[in-house]
Amino acid sequence: MPDTQAHQQHSVRGGLYIDPLPFGEIEVAPLPAIAHIPVDAKSEISVSVGDTVLTGQPVTTCNDQIVANHASVSGRVISITQNTVSIQSDQLDTPYLCKVQSLHNKNDYQQLFRSMGLVGLGGAAFPVDKKLNSLEPTTLLINAAECDPAIYCDEALMQERSAKVIQGIEIAIVASGAKKCIIGIEDNKSKALEQMKAHLPDHMKLICVPAIYPSGAEKTLLRLCTGKTGALKENDTICFNVATCYAMYQAVSKSRPLISRIVTIVENARVRNLEVRIGTPVKELLTPLERSTSVVCGGRMMGRVVTQDHCVDKRTNSILLHTDNHPAATPCIRCGACEEVCPESLLPQHLYWHATTPDTAKLQELKLDQCIECGCCDAVCPSHIPLAGLFNSAKRTIEKEETEQHKAALAKYRYEKHLARQSEKTVRQRKQLDSKTEILKTTNADNEAKKALIAKALQRKKNKRAVETDKKSDRDSTL
Ligand code: SF4
Ligand code: SF4
Repeated sequence: MPDTQAHQQHSVRGGLYIDPLPFGEIEVAPLPAIAHIPVDAKSEISVSVGDTVLTGQPVTTCNDQIVANHASVSGRVISITQNTVSIQSDQLDTPYLCKVQSLHNKNDYQQLFRSMGLVGLGGAAFPVDKKLNSLEPTTLLINAAECDPAIYCDEALMQERSAKVIQGIEIAIVASGAKKCIIGIEDNKSKALEQMKAHLPDHMKLICVPAIYPSGAEKTLLRLCTGKTGALKENDTICFNVATCYAMYQAVSKSRPLISRIVTIVENARVRNLEVRIGTPVKELLTPLERSTSVVCGGRMMGRVVTQDHCVDKRTNSILLHTDNHPAATPCIRCGACEEVCPESLLPQHLYWHATTPDTAKLQELKLDQCIECGCCDAVCPSHIPLAGLFNSAKRTIEKEETEQHKAALAKYRYEKHLARQSEKTVRQRKQLDSKTEILKTTNADNEAKKALIAKALQRKKNKRAVETDKKSDRDSTL
């Protein structure tokens, strides 16, 4: 019997419960008039302005660092910049025929995922092939918990396409080589849970976790499902989001590259889930009335404000139409509400105190690096202090400081090495000089000795000649 029993194994700490909103079926968004395909600045673009392209045709090449990007509509390339390939849609959506080679090992899967442009669809957009490269996992953790309370795209996907999601998970098991597979799903997703259970095979385990934000954070989900703490890598675990598994299914079984994704659009209490082509401008997804509001991409808790000209990319999981202005922050009243909701058991009020300076040593002592920037503390702070944002900038400042320190240490090391080399050179030169002087001295001494010998020889010759002269004089006088 498959272990389909929904249960919570480990208790959640901190976090926020936010009432879910109802939503309908996934709608297919109209094709954009112009699709602006985001491309990596390091990508090699394989099309030119004026080229006709088909839906799914690669517009960039891939390598072991970057995945390919594809035309999400058929039509004509009208402009190319360092970051975008813009295609005017012919509205025909003529498909490009991608061929999938037979898959025998992890390397084959990695190559396929790279060429199909697969990245994690949970929000981080980390290349799937790189994730597979990183370790030999024993556990495959499937993230079926939304990463933000205002995002419903994965829930909608499981409700409507659970059989395909499960097939995608099977592919992820084979591609990763994991021995066991756990799917963590939030307990308020009853319809999605029911559908997943209906297709669940024996070797997959479905575990319900509390619908308390941020259960969908990888580390939190791992703790809730297995009781294990620490990073996934330390626990030989690899994690994929359900939408990423669905993209794997589409790549392997349908030869379809990643050219669309499901995006949740939230406007007050109204939720829509749209299947959107990558590169669609946000404003094309909104009603005329909605076009006057500001837009937050990435969820209520961790999203960022973008303009309506922003285009849907592979990480766009939600578009939140933001109507209320954030009240101005007032001083901390030390109520402790932030501490109660922190899922990482940190002390946000103390972190806040030291983040304003920022005091690096204190922040390290208070484990700022463990802050997952979930924004729970922000949400409950009666003083409206943007705590998570402050923690993010404190982290960046510390990172910058550490980079500077590292650079300074490297420069010091290089300078010391230079000084050591200089001093060695001086010693070596002095030794060479000494030895030359020694040789010169010896040579001079030798020369003196030679001179003395020559002088002696000359003297001998002189003496001999004098003796001979004397003898001759004696002989001459005798005659
Ligand atoms: S919730 Fe806000 S006001 Fe209360 S202690 Fe935390 S930072 Fe201070
Ligand atoms: S943002 Fe950081 S400090 Fe605040 S609740 Fe989340 S983990 Fe805790």
